[in-house]
Amino acid sequence: MQFQDLKLIEPLLRAVRAEGYDTPTPIQAQAIPHVLAGKDIVGCAQTGTGKTAAFALPILQRLVAAPRSGGRPVMRVLVLSPTRELATQINDSFNTYGRHTGLKSIVIFGGVGQQPQVQAVQRGTDILVATPGRLLDLMQQGYIRLNTIEIFVLDEADRMLDMGFIHDVRRVINALPSKRQTLLFSATMPQDIQDLANRILINPVRVEVTPQATTVEKIVQSVFFVEKKDKRALLEHLLRDQAIRRVLVFTRTKHGANKLVQQLDQSAIQAEAIHGNKSQSARERALANFKSGKTRVLVATDIAARGLDVEDVTHVINYDLPNEPESYVHRIGRTARAGAEGIAYSFVDTEERKYLQDIEKLIRLRVPVETDHPHAAPLNTSAYAAKHHAPPPKNEHSRPPDGNSRRRSRRPGQGGERRFNRQG
Ligand code: AMP
Repeated sequence: MQFQDLKLIEPLLRAVRAEGYDTPTPIQAQAIPHVLAGKDIVGCAQTGTGKTAAFALPILQRLVAAPRSGGRPVMRVLVLSPTRELATQINDSFNTYGRHTGLKSIVIFGGVGQQPQVQAVQRGTDILVATPGRLLDLMQQGYIRLNTIEIFVLDEADRMLDMGFIHDVRRVINALPSKRQTLLFSATMPQDIQDLANRILINPVRVEVTPQATTVEKIVQSVFFVEKKDKRALLEHLLRDQAIRRVLVFTRTKHGANKLVQQLDQSAIQAEAIHGNKSQSARERALANFKSGKTRVLVATDIAARGLDVEDVTHVINYDLPNEPESYVHRIGRTARAGAEGIAYSFVDTEERKYLQDIEKLIRLRVPVETDHPHAAPLNTSAYAAKHHAPPPKNEHSRPPDGNSRRRSRRPGQGGERRFNRQG
């Protein structure tokens, strides 16, 4: 399957070629024809699957196909996104893919002055990408009206729910024309999101990719049993390996992220933190430094890292294991973007063992235990490891945890579980 087969118009094909995309990703192949046909969509897909292009390309094409005549552009598309970073990336994607169409996209989000955003809205735009809070603000002040919206995209609906934005989202939806095309994307489909989908979508086509399986399959994972107090020493030990070129380190809390950055700094390891307490400019700076390679270690909390699109993250390290197993999948998905391979290490202290069990149940993989490191917790080689983790084969066991030990996570049982099945 090629992009041409999806009946995309030449200006879009040219932009896609310039991005170096050869073939559509599965979500693109599935979604694009339906969006072009004007259908409502419920898409079960996470970031990293090529989801943005899956909606941006056909939306651009629909706008081109039915142009509004002359003058200032009219706001015809609204995309709601939970975080500023993701909103910015979506806006960049619309402008990149749409660069030969003459269509315009702008982004608005909170945490920064509203005046430049108001001015941008007043100059006119075809597409508006927004976080819910700032959008409602500008609507209440009378700067934005949604009565001309033809296509509405709700992205990362489950995260909207997690972040407590669902009421804001409902209020936005109430202000939309009822005659519209609606696309809803969510990595997971909890009941609340299904209910919302039932309310706001009309005869939706369901498109689903199982990135959890493909992503997880492509990532070489291991766990390190370590005592809480030894985690930092273990991290510094691992970071001596220069194969770890660009690493995203996850902590559970913002405070933990800041503390870790300070500690790494004392050990002359260049690190920066990205989390919700940082100013917008500090977050952008940290991200830019990480993207350019100036910063090798980016320490992040789950929400800040959600949807981060940084190419070539060689490693993800779960300094703290998440208590929600879904988060593990999202986190390690930051490495192995769009086809690349990645490596994920997880530090597991005594209290986090129960989280590990939940994660392994969800991903249907036993993550191999790395024992060959100086900070192994006593339980590493004990009954626990024996009971819960069959020892890895000897030759693999003794390899250092570097870029060359490309071990695959092993599956429990004898196959038959190749497809990750969320409902199962
Ligand atoms: P997304 O899931 O939209 O965040 O996309 C993840 C990454 O995949 C982005 O860096 C995109 O630029 C990239 N991407 C999207 N579609 C394709 C494609 N068909 N081929 C290669 N890369 C792609």
